Amino acid sequence: MKDRFGRTVNYLRISVIDRCNLRCHYCMPLHVKFFDPKDVLSFDEIITVVKVAQKLGIESVRITGGEPLVRPQLPKLIYRLKNECALKEIALTTNGMLLESLAQDLKEAGLDRINVSVDTLRPDRFRKITRFGDLQTVLYGLRRAIDVGLTPIKINAVILRGFNDDEIDDLFRLTLLERVTVRFLELMPIGEALSLNGMGGYLNLTQVKERLIKDYRLVPVQEKGNGPARYWKAPGAPGKLGFITPISDKYCATCSRIRLTANGEIRPCLAYDLHVNLREAIRRGDGEAIAAGILKALEIKPWGHHWEEGQITQTVMSSLGG
Ligand code: SAM
Ligand code: SF4
Repeated sequence: MKDRFGRTVNYLRISVIDRCNLRCHYCMPLHVKFFDPKDVLSFDEIITVVKVAQKLGIESVRITGGEPLVRPQLPKLIYRLKNECALKEIALTTNGMLLESLAQDLKEAGLDRINVSVDTLRPDRFRKITRFGDLQTVLYGLRRAIDVGLTPIKINAVILRGFNDDEIDDLFRLTLLERVTVRFLELMPIGEALSLNGMGGYLNLTQVKERLIKDYRLVPVQEKGNGPARYWKAPGAPGKLGFITPISDKYCATCSRIRLTANGEIRPCLAYDLHVNLREAIRRGDGEAIAAGILKALEIKPWGHHWEEGQITQTVMSSLGG
């Protein structure tokens, strides 16, 4: 599938739920109006969309949320995606709070890879930024995921100036010890991130990258993945370091993704509210209308965001899945 700018789109992010057990300050308000449960796609309906999308050219999917592990019976969806949809890869992004109990089932269901979001290694800060999170629980979840073979694991850390930027080197040092990929994310001006009172702010991570390359003699490396991150590693280290820099080093020119929201919308770009609502077509099981809707989303996919010029995006990030 190509969009009107000639970009190949072969990657679908699937949000399976807009609810979450945390409330990270940059992502989700404390009180939020969730989708009406009757509008949330069932597993059968998600499978219907993925089968159509796969025939159109989607090769890999990522399961996201809200928090995907809050969705009851999630391993059953993974199993069906693995066995019914002819995908090259199924990955998942999670906050890790429920990972310790679910890692084994997810692996057995056929999940290929996971990303776990850990912004800080300090329990007090972790609680502060996530509002309800417990760092120890997440680290035990990570440990379990490594033990059951959901590897190599990626750790996502949103870096906020004045909040956790003093932990950049400590987070990087994890790559010297374990076969993990630590990825630093620039704050995107979406939803809650627009009003981060006292919780830090945007930090230019291209400058951080340049400093780390110099200080630790990092070399560029390839890394398996469908996303926009660029990867580096310290000589001899088992792990890698990635940077997601949508603002300081824009990557829209290579965007290969579209999104399916939990209530059945196809979103062609994270930065815009633009979408094609496919819920009714999905409910009817109308493959032709679903295919037409996906192609329509490609047709209207914008060239890219303009966040670096001050554009802001109002949608709550947790309903988009990142
Ligand atoms: N709940 C899961 C999690 O936290 O990993 C999956 C959904 S979450 C929306 C996906 C990713 O988006 C997380 O790594 C999170 O840190 C990141 N994220 C959320 N809001 C963001 C923002 N304003 N800027 C940059 N990244 C953000
Ligand atoms: Fe929940 Fe993930 Fe958003 Fe945090 S980043 S509030 S864990 S959806």
